[in-house]
Amino acid sequence: MKKLELHWKILIGMFLGIVVGLIASALEMNQFVQDWIKPFGTIFINLLKLIAIPLIIASLIKGVSDLKDISKLSKMGGRTLGIYLGTTLLAVILGLFIVNTVRPGVTVTEETRQELLEGYSSEATDKINIATAEKDQGPLRALEDLVPDNIFSAAGDNRNMLQVIFFVLFFGIGLILIAPEKAKPVKDFIDGLNEVILKMIDVIMLGAPYGVFALLAALIVESPSWSLFQALLWYSVCVLAGLAILILVVYPTLARMITGMKYKKFFGGIGPAQLVAFSTSSSAATLPVTMERVSEHMGVDEEVSSFVLPIGATVNMDGTSLYQGVAAVFIAQAFGIDLTLGDQLSIVLTATLASIGSAAVPSAGMIMLVIVLGAIGVPEAGLALIFAVDRPLDMVRTITNVTGDATVSLIVAKSMGLLGEPHERKLTDHYQGSEV
Ligand code: ASP
Repeated sequence: MKKLELHWKILIGMFLGIVVGLIASALEMNQFVQDWIKPFGTIFINLLKLIAIPLIIASLIKGVSDLKDISKLSKMGGRTLGIYLGTTLLAVILGLFIVNTVRPGVTVTEETRQELLEGYSSEATDKINIATAEKDQGPLRALEDLVPDNIFSAAGDNRNMLQVIFFVLFFGIGLILIAPEKAKPVKDFIDGLNEVILKMIDVIMLGAPYGVFALLAALIVESPSWSLFQALLWYSVCVLAGLAILILVVYPTLARMITGMKYKKFFGGIGPAQLVAFSTSSSAATLPVTMERVSEHMGVDEEVSSFVLPIGATVNMDGTSLYQGVAAVFIAQAFGIDLTLGDQLSIVLTATLASIGSAAVPSAGMIMLVIVLGAIGVPEAGLALIFAVDRPLDMVRTITNVTGDATVSLIVAKSMGLLGEPHERKLTDHYQGSEV
């Protein structure tokens, strides 16, 4: 009998997680889920995060050193960043178009607005405080932050992914520049290390169906009441519609037009990473899965995926920028503030920058939204209005972020002549290719 494919197993895990979560809520067994099921979800996320930094180190050094010369690296870097910026801008503009057409903020009644503002004010204040701390830093702070003063402390925190990428790129360049016979042992070691880490990801993915089961069951028992979801229905519909257009239309069409990849192969390839993104709400935690899917199932050469994806996970967040555009205008509408064309343009600019600055972790996009609101003079306390539905929207924007990164890696690979046939690494094809 043909074995069930991974994405089906993950989907079944998700479905069962939701069912168990709903039953537990009905039977008031929330504590049971928290104590006995949620920990397995946390373990799954931890395993993914655990592997993220070693994966970036091994695969990016391998990727850069395989490039052989620096001009190829700068060519790939230029294309990657250019396309990332282009897709992010497109996403915010799409979001603004939808929210200005549907005008969901107008449907919020005065009563609901007060209820939300009061109910979520302390959560909103927490986010505002984090954002203000970031905002108070100088204009070149982001650049300053890129260069770590100690690689071990940088690698000690998953939030410093960009610092690690900086070091690793620098190291890879050093490796290209030294004599080949001196570079060889280092490269051989890194190649082997890379293989080991990829294999570890395969093993972790065996647990994915159970991990997402536990994550969704816990999420359901922790979610706020449905009545609030209804009040924010039109706002949620706008965000979800924009994200759906990106995921289901824009990305597969771009992939089809530029690389000729069919819809089915596109989603068959990236599907499991999308499901993990949905369950974890974190592009950083999903990165190992995205890298594995893109290089082993979509034919992107590792030289490209190891460069494009870790950078994309941290800076390219189309779903987040679209959401920030919609949310900013929605909050303005709910407060009865009219936005000028200039305001809308500054949303395009600040949402693009804010999405680049958002960490690849749950609800980071909401923290950075404070910056967008500040730029157009909308009260930051308005964050309380959208708090109740942020988690489900975060789950879908993370799918978008991950799919966007994968699409760009396909395009860059194609443009560099590095898109080939997928070469799946079987869990059993280890030393000398023998079966176990
Ligand atoms: N959770 C998102 C991600 O990791 C970021 C966000 O909050 O929008 O991609």
